[in-house]
Amino acid sequence: MHLSSVSKLEARSKADVVVVPFWKGKHGPEAAIEEIGVLRKALAPSLSSHDFKGKEEELLVIYEDGEYEKRIALLGLGERDKVTVERLRRAYAPITKFALKKRLKSLNVPLPVCEAIPNEGVIQGVLEGLLLPNYSFHALKHESVKEDPPTLVEKISLIGAGKKEMELAKTIETVCQGIYLTRDLVNGNADDVTPQYLAKVAVGLAKSHKSVKTTVLDKKQIVKEKMGLLLAVNRGSDLDPVFMTISYRGNPKSDDHTVVVGKGITFDTGGLNLKSTGMETMKDDMSGAAIVLGVMGVVAELGLKVNVTGVIASTDNAIDAKSYKPGDVYQGHSGKTVEIGNTDAEGRLILADALSYTVKHLKPTRIIDFATLTGAMGIALGTEAAGLFTNNDVLADLLLRAGTETGERLWRMPMFEEYRELLKSDVADIKSTGGRLGSSILAAQFLQDFIGKTPWAHIDIAATAFSAEGRRYYPRFSTGIGVRLIIALLQNL
Ligand SMILES: [Zn+2]
Repeated sequence: MHLSSVSKLEARSKADVVVVPFWKGKHGPEAAIEEIGVLRKALAPSLSSHDFKGKEEELLVIYEDGEYEKRIALLGLGERDKVTVERLRRAYAPITKFALKKRLKSLNVPLPVCEAIPNEGVIQGVLEGLLLPNYSFHALKHESVKEDPPTLVEKISLIGAGKKEMELAKTIETVCQGIYLTRDLVNGNADDVTPQYLAKVAVGLAKSHKSVKTTVLDKKQIVKEKMGLLLAVNRGSDLDPVFMTISYRGNPKSDDHTVVVGKGITFDTGGLNLKSTGMETMKDDMSGAAIVLGVMGVVAELGLKVNVTGVIASTDNAIDAKSYKPGDVYQGHSGKTVEIGNTDAEGRLILADALSYTVKHLKPTRIIDFATLTGAMGIALGTEAAGLFTNNDVLADLLLRAGTETGERLWRMPMFEEYRELLKSDVADIKSTGGRLGSSILAAQFLQDFIGKTPWAHIDIAATAFSAEGRRYYPRFSTGIGVRLIIALLQNL
């Protein structure tokens, strides 16, 4: 992506389209540059028709024989005094969707004027709205791609942006690169994006960034670490499990250390409790791991002054004569024994070993885990928020604030002690499942048994990580939700 800025409209370069911002109910374009009025003549017939109202996400494209662009996009931003960063994201996303459809590669974007949010917020809203949908997954297409390769927007000129705003713009672009990586990993074939492939990506991060150190434990070392739960889930697999830590120390003088843990089930059949529905999207069950890799790439690229470690436990959950069995008991890294309630509840098992390892070896100040953990999460919250479960109010506030800032909404869920009773086992220290009711909460309470007193948050992204249809600024398939959330949290520390 080539990002640039000019201060005046007449200093702009040629582009495929110029995006002219309008507030609802106002008669003219209002941008950070005064000369936006010179476009008024070209816009006059469209405006006098009153077809275009300036409503949020409204888009009208007109064609003209202009010196700089052939297309003028009238973009509605909604009501001026109600504008927020999130509303700007939503308003600008249709521009990129239009550009992808029409195969346009360059945009001239005069920044809108709004008093309600600071300049940084305007840049964030406009640019994230443009960049988040600027993604296409076509690696698995063949003939059709040859004839008609998808194009992306390659050039954006922000008209009216100053030096400080452009620094922020570059940061936003770097974060989006991390999100694209996360999406690519989730969208790739499960046969390609294996535990070993995830390890390769993690090692690659260390190779391209001196500040990153990656450690990959192979099966032998995992056995030595006594990660019996990860090994149990892996029993039915043709591939070895992998456990990795990706550490970045951007502030060596500080003891503050955030650990982000990701569930890396590269394909989930459900195991012997075979899934009866929904298996066709189960390559997304490593979305947590993909978020961790996206985050670590961004943190290193931006050189954030924080200490962060990414932790990933990875295997697929397959069926074989050797598969782990419901009703059997397995011992994990923490030493606790677990009675398996249902083999499709495998994510919490590999996370239990990852969390226990993190607490024992990594001296975390806070742990945040991401997992596509329970189908019940979507029943509870739908697709507009991920479930947040935490034992710590300070961490809850940090995450909820980052969620509001990024539009990656979280909703804090309860963890009533009474429910913990349901995880009691007659034959082991704990049971992995406790029935259907409140099952997202029970999953979180299972995890809580493995973190001791460390401030910890579990984010259940089962309904938000993947969107078959795409929505707003999220393209189809992997949304990449979680990366911006964690980067915002780290920047706010
Ligand atoms: Zn499962």
